[in-house]
Amino acid sequence: RAKKDEQNSYRFFENDMKDAIQRKLQLTHELKTAIELNQFELFYQPKVELATNQIVGAEALIRWKKDGNYLLPKEFIPVAEESGLIVEIGRWALEAACLECARWQQAGLHGMTVAVNLSPVQFKRGSLPTHVFRALQKSGLDPNLLELEITESLFIDDPDHVKQQVHAMVERGVNFAIDDFGTGYSNLNYLAKFNASTLKIDMSFVREMVQNPQQQHIVSAIIKMSQVMDLENIAEGVEDAQTAALLREQGCIYGQGFYWSPPLPAGEFFQFVRDQPQAA
Ligand code: C2E
Ligand code: MG
Ligand code: MG
Ligand code: MG
Repeated sequence: RAKKDEQNSYRFFENDMKDAIQRKLQLTHELKTAIELNQFELFYQPKVELATNQIVGAEALIRWKKDGNYLLPKEFIPVAEESGLIVEIGRWALEAACLECARWQQAGLHGMTVAVNLSPVQFKRGSLPTHVFRALQKSGLDPNLLELEITESLFIDDPDHVKQQVHAMVERGVNFAIDDFGTGYSNLNYLAKFNASTLKIDMSFVREMVQNPQQQHIVSAIIKMSQVMDLENIAEGVEDAQTAALLREQGCIYGQGFYWSPPLPAGEFFQFVRDQPQAA
């Protein structure tokens, strides 16, 4: 009986595995088609200066328009990374974001920045600096208006290889932000060496800081650290006025979150910025 159960559960396990592999292959195939058919779209979420409540930039967040629905990154980025397709998707995202940001400048939104998320895979395979420079050149965008978001996990594998690439881009004026800061590797030694310009405080701390003093202390410590290291900072996941006020009090410079706006399609983002009340 026990033996039988064991055999059965093994068979279930085996079938689950087969299903999972099958789904992955299917998704990989669909992603290839999605690239060919141009099914990706960038949404833009406002980056707000806390002192003035003005929108000063946006983060580009990718969506996959599939069968009339928008799929979120978590549903396809992992498979895109495993299959290597993220290199091509990421290159598209860089070019699309730079073109859009260049359009904002032409439309009078001077100095409006754009942030693009990078996958560690883009550093490992494919020539990231070349892709970035091409995106800048094609769009004519000022490199200072481009911010690239990386996570701490990037530092673990091959720090030198990554560092070289980051340096090449920083030299041209591109800015780097450490995304989800505080949740990962947090090797302060690397942080100092990587020429990042911004710490992006992870929303897991930000979202609970009003109710939870512990989280508030963490946020405050990250803000102080950014000040000592001469870095800018931005809090992500700001969902209410109280959190925004608390962040401002603690010396946080920028905020991003549903309190101001969710990520918006390009056209809606542009309207949103144009309609915002001007700073006095
Ligand atoms: P992220 O870069 O940390 O982006 C922040 C995520 O938080 C976004 O989810 C955004 O929609 C969400 N968010 C913003 N404000 C709030 C808020 O106030 N409350 C809550 N609960 N959530 C908020 P999204 O768009 O689903 O993106 C998830 C992740 O996917 C991103 O995390 C980023 O790591 C990755 N990603 C997005 N676009 C790209 C891309 O073009 N390339 C790569 N490689 N990764 C991307
Ligand atoms: Mg990000
Ligand atoms: Mg992230
Ligand atoms: Mg984040």
